[in-house]
Amino acid sequence: MPELPEVETSRRGIEPHLLNKTISDITIRQHKLRWPIPKNLPALAEGKKIRQVCRRAKYLYLQLDNGCIIIHLGMSGSLRICTSKTPPEKHDHIDIRVSNGKILRLRDPRKFGCVLWTSAAINEHKLIKPLGPEPLDDKFNADYLHNKANKRQCSIKALIMNSHIVVGVGNIYASESLFKAGINPKRKAGKVSHQRLEKLVASIKVTLSESIKQGGTTLRDFTSEDGQPGYFAQKLQVYGKTGEECSACGQPIKQITQQARSTFYCSQCQK
Ligand SMILES: [Zn+2]
Repeated sequence: MPELPEVETSRRGIEPHLLNKTISDITIRQHKLRWPIPKNLPALAEGKKIRQVCRRAKYLYLQLDNGCIIIHLGMSGSLRICTSKTPPEKHDHIDIRVSNGKILRLRDPRKFGCVLWTSAAINEHKLIKPLGPEPLDDKFNADYLHNKANKRQCSIKALIMNSHIVVGVGNIYASESLFKAGINPKRKAGKVSHQRLEKLVASIKVTLSESIKQGGTTLRDFTSEDGQPGYFAQKLQVYGKTGEECSACGQPIKQITQQARSTFYCSQCQK
């Protein structure tokens, strides 16, 4: 599943091809994604200039003068830049062509992604409004997290994966960040000290930044002919490493289930 670093990598990959270009036409081959692609999207967006290519949480959006095209990659979506010389394949659901002939193409085999329109401010959109701060934003800091964790009975892992608290900390990044911070994922959120939350916030920021940086090296793939854009193997220390030796202490990594998701951790290093 594309996580925040992949989405940010996608944004950086497509931006240079789209910024300040005018949308010449939109071809929708499949309307039925997670929510239907609005039928009037071409009428609303064609002839309009793309002023910004932005990301909020795992949503990408193209800011036009009269509104935004919001894109979510769902479980299996990917974006690429191509031209009309590349014929669309089975799961290529929408093409957004701009004035220089480049095409932004969404491929989504499982159709859990979406392409939506809003003419209101993006932050007022019902999918965006309830979201917590961006993990790399200064608003996400130890004071903020301490305040949100206060008296909470949920686990610290559940807290950092809650998009109302902070966006973009997916299952992989939660396990990895808690390992870096030395915090047991089962610990109650309200029982983690301010000092340890400070370490956790820093770990989340480092883990995500490193992953984005790593994704940056694959940017050229966005225009490659095979259409397999910039998803990348991360350097993982605990995620998926059940039974392997902890890189810090040598004890075997444990796997448990929390909220129907796998958690990986070292019971020796994480208290
Ligand atoms: Zn360990």
